Amino acid sequence: MSSRAKIRLYVEHPLGAGQTVPLSRDQAHYLFGVMRLAEGAQVALFNGSEGEWTAEVVEAGKRGGVLACRDQAAPQMMPPDLWLLFAPIKKARTDFIVEKAAEMGAARIIPVQTDFTNAERIRQDRLQAHAVEAAEQCGGTFVPPVDDLQKLDRLLADWPEDRHLIFCDESLVGARAALEAAPKGEKWAILIGPEGGFSETERDRLRSRSYCTAVSLGPRILRADTAAVAALTLFQSTRGDW
Ligand code: SAM
Repeated sequence: MSSRAKIRLYVEHPLGAGQTVPLSRDQAHYLFGVMRLAEGAQVALFNGSEGEWTAEVVEAGKRGGVLACRDQAAPQMMPPDLWLLFAPIKKARTDFIVEKAAEMGAARIIPVQTDFTNAERIRQDRLQAHAVEAAEQCGGTFVPPVDDLQKLDRLLADWPEDRHLIFCDESLVGARAALEAAPKGEKWAILIGPEGGFSETERDRLRSRSYCTAVSLGPRILRADTAAVAALTLFQSTRGDW
């Protein structure tokens, strides 16, 4: 097994011993224009399902290039089956939530429109690119898919009953409502609300679901981006893969 290459690149292409991987224009620009790699240099590749591979640059051009896989440097590692549902907030803070969720091992990221969500639309492609960049820099071999914005109501209408929902409810601030109260299980989701919090209707609807546990994130009201990181940390350290 070879030592791990420093530059990591996510590719949408099969990986395996001897497999060649063509580069897009942007990838070629990054590797050869920005990072100044030349033929013979090593790059770490992952595609989200076949682990990390050490690949060698065999063709380097301004508009394209080719890498050839040599050895597998790390096996595929899947995160726990944990979805993060969050209401989009301001652009930079929404980007932050997606980046941190990818780093912290969310398996799927679902932006949701709640009663008090200000955002009407999101740039799904941009958020997905943030998740890819986060996986590239954190050493992960999995990239969580980022869904398009969907209404919380509709998502709950089709909710799979075997997936437990951890509802981070700001009205429980300071209360003893800990994640430990949630039953054991394999499939999970965390729900974080917008700056305005949840409406009473949403709160009642969520609390009436058998698959839902309302939890507190401590004695202070956290901003939504802080709350997402705090909830992911709590989950990963008690139920997840830390
Ligand atoms: N405007 C709301 C209020 O003053 O009550 C606060 C909403 S908070 C900024 C955004 C989201 O973070 C909440 O909807 C909730 O999901 C989560 N959150 C923040 N602090 C929390 C806490 N102490 N307990 C549970 N959830 C919390």
